[in-house]
Amino acid sequence: MSKIFAVIGDPIDHSLSPNIHSAAFRELNLDCSYIAYRIPRGELEEGVEGLKKIKINGFNVTIPHKVEMMKYVDKIDESCSVIGAVNTVSNKDGILKGYNTDMDGFLEPFKKKELPIADTKVLLLGAGGAARAIVAGFAKEKASSITIANRTLDNAIKLAEFSEKIGLNANAIKIEDVKDSAKNYDIIVNATSVGLKNEPSPISLEGINEKTIVYDIVYMPMNTDFIKKAKEENATIIFGYEMLLGQAVRAFEIWHDMEAPYNAMKKALLGGF
Ligand code: NAP
Repeated sequence: MSKIFAVIGDPIDHSLSPNIHSAAFRELNLDCSYIAYRIPRGELEEGVEGLKKIKINGFNVTIPHKVEMMKYVDKIDESCSVIGAVNTVSNKDGILKGYNTDMDGFLEPFKKKELPIADTKVLLLGAGGAARAIVAGFAKEKASSITIANRTLDNAIKLAEFSEKIGLNANAIKIEDVKDSAKNYDIIVNATSVGLKNEPSPISLEGINEKTIVYDIVYMPMNTDFIKKAKEENATIIFGYEMLLGQAVRAFEIWHDMEAPYNAMKKALLGGF
């Protein structure tokens, strides 16, 4: 029987997920379809009921529903309970199980490029939902410490407490206090939304070098000012689209229980830019 998948959120019309997953179905000749379904804030419960009625096989969850979706799943994977948000759901005989692929998606490019995380000093910009999953990733891979720099210091402090709780040494600062300290870190990640509207890099990257890994999770535009500044210093770059692709691959594997066609999915994603 034909299988059906979706991404839910609001706004949703610019989502790249339908392209990525449809390319995978074509590549493997799977009888499946993937749609973008707009569910406005406040209508998640009815929306999920509707998806169950059409016997959806699985769906991705994006802004603004990732945290609220925790209430509507029957089971949760460990990845979700640590992060406190759901971005992927499977439906097996009416039982919805929630997963969070943000962490695996974030780590995937490090694995693919064989870039080590163990014993590194990390500077993380941002303290929102994505930053929380990223902290969990660095804790899992045993980074030596993380400095969380955020516009709102309180949010950075809360995230640093979470980090310490899961075993990663952390401190919190205001983003403007990073000043010229970027060169003291091995890995620098932008997990703020700064860049989406072509804003200038949130920090100076002066003095970093080719060994510094600079990762921007903002994926549209691909070459943010933060990435451009990192290129000027010859840093090792990881683009936001690589995390997006990592997440799509992980979701595919959860739903289909088989290896995802990485190259076909990457081609479809890059074609969307
Ligand atoms: P979120 O929970 O809303 O967090 C937003 C973060 O950005 C907060 O730390 C916020 O600081 C900070 N921020 C917002 N505007 C700012 C500004 N003008 N100056 C400085 N800091 C600012 O969002 P999220 O879900 O974590 O997502 C963050 C970004 O990551 C989004 O652009 C999203 O598209 C991207 N993302 C990409 C992927 C991927 O696969 N590549 C996956 C997930 C998310 P305050 O605490 O001070 O508000």
